[in-house]
Amino acid sequence: MGMLITGIGELVTCDDTLDGADHSESLGILRDAAVIVGRDPETNESSVQWVGLAAKAPAADWAIELGGHAVLPGFVDSHSHLVFAGDRSAEFAARMTGQSYDGGGIATTVAATRAASDDQLRTLLRARADEMRSQGTTTVEIKSGYGLTVHDETRMLRLASEITTEVTYLGGHVVPPGTASGERSAYVDLVTREMLAAALPYAKWIDVFCEPASPHAFDAEESRQILSAGVAAGLGVRVHGNQLAPGPGVQLAVEFGAASVDHCTYLSSSDVDALVGAQETTVATLLPGVEFSTRSPFADARALLDAGVSVALATDCNPGTCYSTSMPFVIALAVREMGMTPAQAVRAATLNAAKALRRNDIGVVRVGSRADLAVLDAPSYLHLPYRPGVPIAKALEV
Ligand SMILES: [Zn+2]
Repeated sequence: MGMLITGIGELVTCDDTLDGADHSESLGILRDAAVIVGRDPETNESSVQWVGLAAKAPAADWAIELGGHAVLPGFVDSHSHLVFAGDRSAEFAARMTGQSYDGGGIATTVAATRAASDDQLRTLLRARADEMRSQGTTTVEIKSGYGLTVHDETRMLRLASEITTEVTYLGGHVVPPGTASGERSAYVDLVTREMLAAALPYAKWIDVFCEPASPHAFDAEESRQILSAGVAAGLGVRVHGNQLAPGPGVQLAVEFGAASVDHCTYLSSSDVDALVGAQETTVATLLPGVEFSTRSPFADARALLDAGVSVALATDCNPGTCYSTSMPFVIALAVREMGMTPAQAVRAATLNAAKALRRNDIGVVRVGSRADLAVLDAPSYLHLPYRPGVPIAKALEV
C-alpha cells in the first residue's frame, strides 16, 4: 500500500458519514488520526486509500510523521481570474482614498494582457498558482475575461487549461473598452458565436458578469443570451451576480440551474428564497476579499446560512478588486466580517467549494477522494482565522 501520513493531531475530513468522528461542527473531525494515500498506476492520480485512528493504521510502504499538526482537505478556490498581466495598485490606492469601483478599471488589465506574450502570461500564471498551493489550495478554477477578442480569450483559456481542468469562459466579463453603446449587441453576438466556439476545446464552464448597475457589465437579457449559448454548447453555468447593487444575477443563476452564483453581496429576500429553493443545485459563493479590497459592505453569510443556503468561499483573485491568492485570508475575513463560524468557513472553503464546481472527489478526505490535503503549522483548523496573515497552511506534497 502507499504512503502512511501519521501524527495528525486533528484531521478535518468534511465527511459527514465517517464512523467515530466528531460531527458536532459538521467537519467530521478525527483526532490522533492517520491517512494512507496511494497512486493509481493507470491514471497516475493519487487518492486516499484509508482514513482512521493512527493506532489502527495498517502497514504501508512508507510513512511521514506530522508531529501533531492539523490536516484538512486542500482548499478549493472556485473563483479566480489568474491569467492577466500588469497590476492596478494605483487604482487600489485611489479607492482607499474614497473613489468607488464600477468595473471600468478592467480596461487597464485588458490592454496589458493583450500586449503580453503567451510565455509572459504563463510565467505570471504559474507563479500565482504556486502562491496558492503554498497556502493550502489544491484546486483552482480559472476564468478568461481579459482578452475580449476571439484570439485573446482563446489564448487565456488555453493557458488556464495548462493549470486546471476547471476552466471558465468569461467572454461576457465586460463590454470591450471603447465599444459604442449601439455596438453592445454585436459584442454579445460575438461572445455567443465565434468566441464561444473557439473557447469550447478548453472550457468546462461559462460565466457572465451580470450587473446592470455597471455600464461595463451585462444586463439580464444580455446575460441570458450568453448563458443560453453556453448551455446549448454543453458548458456548465456560473454567474457573477449582485456584486455592486441588487440585481437579476441570483435569479438568473437559479433559473439556469447554475452550479454557483458568485459575490451575492446585495441580496433581496426573494433572492435568498430562490437560493434556499436551489440549495441542492446552486451554491452561493462569497468573495469577502473583494469587499475588503474595495471597502464595500460584506455579504451577509450569517443570514444565508441561517436560511439554509449552500455557501462557499473563494478568493476571486484578480488585479482589480482582490489581488490575493490566500484562502486562509478569505476564511479569516468570513469569520471576522461575515458572521461565519470557523467550522462553517472551513467547510465553505473545501466541501462546499467543491460542490460549486460539481465535484465530489475533492474538498473531502474519504476513501477514494483525491489525495489533495492541506497541512497546518498548528494543532487545529481554528488557527486559520485565529492567526490571520500568518502563513500556517500549505498543500501537503504526497
Ligand atoms: Zn470574478
